[in-house]
Amino acid sequence: MSIREFSSLGLSEKTTKVLGELGYENPTPIQAESIPHVLAKKDLIGQAQTGTGKTAAFAIPSIENIDDSIRGTQILVLCPTRELAVQVYNEYEKLAKYHTSTDCIAIYGGESIEKQFRGLKRNPAIVVGTPGRVKDHINRGTLKLNQLQTLILDEADEMLDMGFVEDIEFVLEQTPEQRQVVLFSATMAPEIMKLSKRYLNNPEVIKIASKNMTADTLDQYFIPCTSRNKVTATDRIIKGNDFNLVLLFCNTKAMVDDAAVRLQRLGHRAEGLHGDMSQAQRDRVMNNFRAGHTTILVATDVAARGLDVKGVDAVINYDIPQDLEYYVHRIGRTGRAGKKGASYTFANRNELYKINQLAKKTKAEIIQAELPSAESMINQRRELLGIEILKTAEFVNDEYLHMVEQMEEQGVTPEIFAAALLEKMLKKDEEIWRAEDKAMAEPVRSKGDRNDRSRGRDRDFGDRNRSDRSGGRRDRSERGRRGGSRFESNRDMSRLFINLGRDNNLQPRDIVGAIAGETGIGGNAIGEIDIHQNFSFVEIPKEEVNKVLKVMNTRMIKGNPVSFEIAKPAR
Ligand code: AMP
Repeated sequence: MSIREFSSLGLSEKTTKVLGELGYENPTPIQAESIPHVLAKKDLIGQAQTGTGKTAAFAIPSIENIDDSIRGTQILVLCPTRELAVQVYNEYEKLAKYHTSTDCIAIYGGESIEKQFRGLKRNPAIVVGTPGRVKDHINRGTLKLNQLQTLILDEADEMLDMGFVEDIEFVLEQTPEQRQVVLFSATMAPEIMKLSKRYLNNPEVIKIASKNMTADTLDQYFIPCTSRNKVTATDRIIKGNDFNLVLLFCNTKAMVDDAAVRLQRLGHRAEGLHGDMSQAQRDRVMNNFRAGHTTILVATDVAARGLDVKGVDAVINYDIPQDLEYYVHRIGRTGRAGKKGASYTFANRNELYKINQLAKKTKAEIIQAELPSAESMINQRRELLGIEILKTAEFVNDEYLHMVEQMEEQGVTPEIFAAALLEKMLKKDEEIWRAEDKAMAEPVRSKGDRNDRSRGRDRDFGDRNRSDRSGGRRDRSERGRRGGSRFESNRDMSRLFINLGRDNNLQPRDIVGAIAGETGIGGNAIGEIDIHQNFSFVEIPKEEVNKVLKVMNTRMIKGNPVSFEIAKPAR
């Protein structure tokens, strides 16, 4: 039986006080199991994922074991990434708040080594770092391990996957013989067992089953979905559920960039996070997400490793991870601290068997959900808006009432005014949803023109919108179709993305006029134009693309700074 109260773990008053302040009422299962063993200075292997409270499971007891009479580093934590190192460091800082003589420092690559020299000179009792940088400091003699009591390997499987095995072994070999080794890992891969056998002394093994982690706090769904519908599906899941913070996982960096841009185009505050970005960019993206300025973080598994952000409403698996173990990591980012979370996994017909594997792995049901139809989105949005309006109507603001009266004086009845307001709020999205439904209902073409077909998704909307709205330019789109399928790509033309759309009152003639006027390219040479809500596409002869990019990116259209770029082909 595990102990379910912090008070029965024999912790100091300082720690008990801080736990109270942090609102940690009871130990999580991994904490209840691990704390007594770590306090007793035993070696330990803990199998638990991010989100289970594993950091505090080693941080609380290791802080308690610090001997204030010793000067020197007593605890060393190795983490796979800088992000995780910073998170673990923050947790130590919080938990050691009343251990006033206990100093903590984080050392990782990408940060000034001089600053780290200064920090290490203070002989911090706790050092958290990434393996490469820790090894570097040991070699330079700036980190001394002769007083080390406890070495903690956090997310050991990930460190091994990232190729840190030699660095870890190097560090282990520099530690005193009597030190304690605590190893946390999400999986017990054979390499982990090998490392444990070699360096751990009769360790306690604690396993927190995935089931504990997910079953009660998380609803898992999968949505049968083709690649071309994933953006639409994401958009509808988020809008339909009114999610505020969403983590979206892709398998590749290219996919991260692509999904982030597509979601931005639909008006979402989405940003990508992957290993090709500089550390400064990654920090900025993470901070934006933590602060809620970015509401969708689109990431690869490695970049999001150890990421701990409170209040993530849902995790969307844009791609099913190649390594199913990652699935458990991914969905562990939502449904934390007693709040219910949700995960959505997109799967095409050939991937449905993987859903069964994932269900087995998490020992939980993964429920099939359908991509909400335009009509259900529309009904839901109208219903929610109706409820909101009724609530607001209870205490309506006099200034707004006055506005309605002013309209009435101009001959607009309150009914017409209210309906116009609703139209303004709802129509654009509703039009888009209906257009998306039509586009999705079209059969996917087989082989040969498949790429062109998926490329045409955005264009699809454009055609509809244009035929509805673009009046005089319709001949342009008709001309584009004459040669056959409108999804056929024209090999001599390049498609450019423009950052302005209907919201900027952009009309096809504005685009033609601006390009022709500024670059001298004849209006007849300009191909299809697709105007969307807040962006557009235009086809330009390939040999003119450089000129257009060079000239147009310094110009304005309809008073707006304009940016042209080569459109990314849809996948
Ligand atoms: P971790 O698995 O270490 O990434 O922790 C996940 C989150 O749970 C962190 O935000 C911790 O601050 C929080 N946490 C850790 N232990 C507890 C606890 N006993 N009660 C409530 N929250 C906790």
